[in-house]
Amino acid sequence: MSCFDSENGVSVVAGMEWTSSSGSNSSKSPMDLDRIRRAVREILLAVGEDPDREGLVETPDRVARMYAEVFQGLHQDPKVHLQKKFTQKYDEILLIKDIRFVSFCEHHLLPVIGQAHVAYIPNGTVVGLSKIPRVLDVLARRPQMQERLTEELADLLMDELDAKGVATVLEASHCCMTIRGVNKPGSNFVTSAMRGTFRERLATRTEVMSLIFGSKN
Ligand SMILES: [Zn+2]
Repeated sequence: MSCFDSENGVSVVAGMEWTSSSGSNSSKSPMDLDRIRRAVREILLAVGEDPDREGLVETPDRVARMYAEVFQGLHQDPKVHLQKKFTQKYDEILLIKDIRFVSFCEHHLLPVIGQAHVAYIPNGTVVGLSKIPRVLDVLARRPQMQERLTEELADLLMDELDAKGVATVLEASHCCMTIRGVNKPGSNFVTSAMRGTFRERLATRTEVMSLIFGSKN
């Protein structure tokens, strides 16, 4: 579901899917796949498995290709997606809601699955709607901490868009909390970063937070 509403001077795009480009550049990955394969085989031996049994024989290679895919952001520059801008006289909040993303926590290398809400107030120029999810994907496909991802995204947009303000809010479920450790399925971790007008003006911050969370039950 994707829609574009413009009411009360506010644009909202909801339900953007996490875009996947899986496998497209695995053939010339800058990563050392052989090294990952050897390491995964070592882990299997270390946990007491037989890496040569039928079901595991190709696992090191699969895991190597998976890491090359989920960490491809390490070798990509998110700024390339923000180079093409359009002149647009619009100085209200522009919000993209519910951008699904997948990242990996750098402490356990386990998935972090969630959604991001990104708002900015343009300063004469805007970028194409698909660009912000692409920037998020580049930053998310690295060993990450949600706090850092939230701030990196806000700072990058603030700098590259020359925006009057940027707000990023991320809600995510961390597998390192849901499948191990404290074992709390269903828990969500929420982080936010406010820059420019969103940081300076309480009314603007309140407005964007109610746009993001207001419609939820
Ligand atoms: Zn973790």
